[in-house]
Amino acid sequence: MTMPALMENYARADIAFEHGQGAWLTARDGRRYLDFGAGIAVNALGHAHPRLVAALQAQAGKLWHTSNLYRVPGQEQVAETLVAHSFADSVYFCSTGLEANEAALKMARKVFHDAGQPERDRFVVAGGAFHGRSFASIAAGGNPKHLDGFGTPMDAFDRVAFGNMNEARNAIGAQTCAVFVEPVQGEGGIRPAPEGYLRGLRDMCDEYGLLLILDEVQTGIGRTGTLFAYEHAGITPDILTAAKGLGGGFPVGAVLATERCARAFTPGSHGTTFGGNPLAMAVAQAVLDEVLSPGFLERVSRVGETLGTALDRLVADYPSVLAGTRGLGLMRGLICAVPNGDLIAACRDQGLLLVPASDNVARLLPPLIIDTTEVDAAIEKLRAACATLAN
Ligand SMILES: *Cc1c(COP(=O)(O)O)cnc(C)c1O
Repeated sequence: MTMPALMENYARADIAFEHGQGAWLTARDGRRYLDFGAGIAVNALGHAHPRLVAALQAQAGKLWHTSNLYRVPGQEQVAETLVAHSFADSVYFCSTGLEANEAALKMARKVFHDAGQPERDRFVVAGGAFHGRSFASIAAGGNPKHLDGFGTPMDAFDRVAFGNMNEARNAIGAQTCAVFVEPVQGEGGIRPAPEGYLRGLRDMCDEYGLLLILDEVQTGIGRTGTLFAYEHAGITPDILTAAKGLGGGFPVGAVLATERCARAFTPGSHGTTFGGNPLAMAVAQAVLDEVLSPGFLERVSRVGETLGTALDRLVADYPSVLAGTRGLGLMRGLICAVPNGDLIAACRDQGLLLVPASDNVARLLPPLIIDTTEVDAAIEKLRAACATLAN
């Protein structure tokens, strides 16, 4: 048996896509697929969006990379846009979700170090979480599948049941510096924080002088119908991480922070070579301009409602295949009564792409540019897939 040149750390479907347009992908064999996975919530504006293509091409002819030894005007502009439309006073750029989380956790520890409480270096985290695949983020996520084989997990995280305020309170100790959660657990199976939970965590953090860090790597940039998911809860975090949708397919991550937290990062405290390079910033600015354009987020909410209602009907019609649905905006989960992989494969046969998640869930994460036409097309394909699986 010869070793494939490409490492086999992914369970890939045997499809290779050649080009895309909006919510549609075309494979090398010519088959077309309706993309309700969007590269795992990344292609926020779908494929080959003219505004993104133009922004990337214009920047590509000028400058790709200069490093953070120098000013990068694009970073200043994207940061100003994010600050103008969020709780944040200041922004740090990196290239991926886990890097954003790593920076956020380091920032929280540094805040307490600088305040003369260096012993406060532990984080309260939630069961079913996903924060990335670095040593810190696999320990924060606590998923045995991600930890097994990689030695002693970093000991900095105290895990509580997601949504349980009593457990959160009981987990706080003299070493706690922050609570670190996703507003809607994505990989965990599209589990929205229960009503009042984020408010409860915010109040608890204020009461104990702790920081609230929200991982909005998946929920951010319009996915739930608001620019960030925390807006639904009527609270603000101290630190927030974003990535997936921010570059619309170009790798970029960001840490948004209040002034107090951002001051913990001084020259030399943290950094990355590629973070916020001119290409990434040109695209991120274009994504934000589009997502923040009048009516865009309202449409995401409206189309998301339509999708949610249609999924409810589907669940009622195919109880032997589907056990329920949850989510908000264009972040929806189908809880499967059959193995989720079976539903996802059946959908793929019908030309519809979904993404698996824990809890036997199939995720629907379409590009935010879809309209009811694409919802109708997706539901038709889902119906056909359910019909093949129904007993
Ligand atoms: C995808 C994801 C991450 C990790 O992002 P990477 O870019 O894969 O490192 C972290 N947190 C959440 C909530 C995610 O969905």
